[in-house]
Amino acid sequence: MTLLDPTHAPAARSWLATANAAGCDFPIQNLPFAVLRKRGSGEAYRGAVAIGDQALDLAALQARKLLPGAAADALALAAQATLNDFMAAGPGAWRALRHALFALLAEGAAQADAVRACLLPLADVEYALPARIADYTDFYTSLDHALNCMRIMRPEADVTPNFRWLPQAYHGRASTIGVSGQRFHRPRGQFLPPGASAPVFAPCTAMDYELELGLWVGPGNAAGQPIAIDQAEQHLFGVCLLNDWSARDIQMWEMNPLGPFHAKNFATTVSPWIVTMDALAPYRTAWTRPAADPQPLPYLELGAQRATAALDIQLEVRLQSEAAARAGRGPARLTGTSFRHQYWSAAQMLAHHTAGGCALQAGDLIGTGTISGPGPGEAGAMIELAHGGQKPVDIGGGERRGFLADGDTVILRGWCEKPGAARIGFGECRGTVLPAIAI
Ligand code: CA
Repeated sequence: MTLLDPTHAPAARSWLATANAAGCDFPIQNLPFAVLRKRGSGEAYRGAVAIGDQALDLAALQARKLLPGAAADALALAAQATLNDFMAAGPGAWRALRHALFALLAEGAAQADAVRACLLPLADVEYALPARIADYTDFYTSLDHALNCMRIMRPEADVTPNFRWLPQAYHGRASTIGVSGQRFHRPRGQFLPPGASAPVFAPCTAMDYELELGLWVGPGNAAGQPIAIDQAEQHLFGVCLLNDWSARDIQMWEMNPLGPFHAKNFATTVSPWIVTMDALAPYRTAWTRPAADPQPLPYLELGAQRATAALDIQLEVRLQSEAAARAGRGPARLTGTSFRHQYWSAAQMLAHHTAGGCALQAGDLIGTGTISGPGPGEAGAMIELAHGGQKPVDIGGGERRGFLADGDTVILRGWCEKPGAARIGFGECRGTVLPAIAI
């Protein structure tokens, strides 16, 4: 695990005043990474770190040659048009750059003027995906989500027996992953309309979102050489918000027995900023497994890591309809929960992914699966909130939703906050459903 160090000190402040404002997602204790450029500029994309309401342009910073040694080497990797090489460099490089950037941005830094010249207002940037994603895997690791979905059909239903023994997952599609702001067309596919005896091929009628986190893989592993559970976090660079858009009617018809295909492969949206595992260190919390449940097999057993393997990341889903946007009404809040309730931890997902010999590569993306909490108002997908569309949800302005309508924008937010630690945030992950393309 990462120990706390001076970069986590809650009293630390930046010479940039907006970084010290209450409620800011990007104080000096956060320092998340993205890839961006000035909006509409046609410039090359490059790595950046968020601070207050600004982005520190790492390519511009590198040109000023302010950093020595290992930090300079790490900066050269992080300044590129994708973060893959920086992710591959591992925890030593990540930590060297974090500490060097913290020093440059801290109150009283001698080079503040030179660094200030490398800032771009966040309001004026556009983002690219932070890495070339060779492979994308989506897990299914929230017991509350799984139970909520099973119980729409049968109130007494339990999850399948394997759920409590292994972190379930399917191999997803990397080609349609987009960065926040993604707009995509409602997919077409085969589904069985209610009461029908034969399927139709038509635009999805049960469009949904899934509140998830994305885990970005750092150094990969060679095929046939699994990552051991006690090493798994050394292979984890950081965390972003992820929306796994889901076509429920298509999913119901197609997924038995091989899993989702059309239902999931048309769009997945991630937030641009990756909050590093180092930044999340103050928000580690105990991972627990009820004594009555199966205990993990040895290759998934966290051992001493149980004390710190869960992450208390608070999450929220909001929805803004086209009508609400036109009327100037803000988005309606649908859900608030925390990732700390997840049945399987990030380390267990990585260990299980590679346990059979599968190779991961730097920049691979792993979805955690929908994150739902145990209480009311903690469901991470519309199918749970609206009971399969049967109990539409009030979104204000006289509008209700059983599933998403064309023009709906879903906004995910995440942050960490507790007494004795600096609040850090993830920014937002926003995506909009457009009408199906006419064919
Ligand atoms: Ca999912």
